[in-house]
Amino acid sequence: MSTKRRTLSGYKACRRCKLVVPEDAKQCPNCGSEEFALKWRGMIAVIDPAKSCIAKRLGLNKPGIYALELVEE
Ligand SMILES: [Zn+2]
Repeated sequence: MSTKRRTLSGYKACRRCKLVVPEDAKQCPNCGSEEFALKWRGMIAVIDPAKSCIAKRLGLNKPGIYALELVEE
């Protein structure tokens, strides 16, 4: 089965903090959650959360790549 939509294959997004991690990661390095969404849309790279108004608006306070929207199955 290969459904190629706008998801980045090989990566999944943490359901709690939306951090994007490799598909084989067992735990989110950001919040420690073990629940991930395999489908997600859009991504934002947060390099310096303190200086990024988008990061502030999304409530992100750690650097990393985050999904903008999780797609529920
Ligand atoms: Zn997380």
